[in-house]
Amino acid sequence: MTDSSSELEPERAAVADACRRLGAEGLLIGTAGNVSVRVEDRVAITATGAVLAELTADQVTLVDLDGKVVGGSLQPTSELDLHLGVYRRYGSGAIVHTHAPMATALSLVLDELPCIHYQLLTLGGTVRVAPYATFGTPELAESVLDALEGRSAAIMANHGAVTHAPTLDKAVEHALLLEWACGVYQHAAALGRPRALDERQQLAVIEAAIARNYGTTHPVPPEQEGTR
Ligand SMILES: [Zn+2]
Repeated sequence: MTDSSSELEPERAAVADACRRLGAEGLLIGTAGNVSVRVEDRVAITATGAVLAELTADQVTLVDLDGKVVGGSLQPTSELDLHLGVYRRYGSGAIVHTHAPMATALSLVLDELPCIHYQLLTLGGTVRVAPYATFGTPELAESVLDALEGRSAAIMANHGAVTHAPTLDKAVEHALLLEWACGVYQHAAALGRPRALDERQQLAVIEAAIARNYGTTHPVPPEQEGTR
């Protein structure tokens, strides 16, 4: 481990901020979950065993895209391979993984969260539930990577949820939105059979967003976000 503790200092602080915010919102409980942000070929990622709701920048480890620790004094999270896999396949800028209660509850019974609200189009629409595999394994990373195809979010069976985005703020917003939608779905399912938006309704939302210059729909490449 080399000492480059000053490297990516703002990003390490931002990861700690994001964890404390997600903790305050009830999405990160104890040491469960992990958050990372990528700057070119460096990733600032939460250390294993850290209490995330109280995280400080010195509990954020720096790794390269092969997972080699290049800064910080602590070992990175056991879900490092999942994070690196998302960066390699989707070129994301940040990742949030939580064991958020609503998403985890849905993961026990659903194969996907239907597109029950137009805001879910921010995540790409219907959110898939990735088949279960043991935490920290290549099988889990593979399962989640496939579930993320064309999406900014996936639910992980009997485990939790993951979101990714070009920026850390957006990945956090996605995590909060997904947890809200999972809660809404559960309230609705207790009353009856939740209706989902059909394809025509979803398309109309995307068209309306484009017409109003909202940068909200997922299928737009990252470089165009913020320009519409
Ligand atoms: Zn986990």
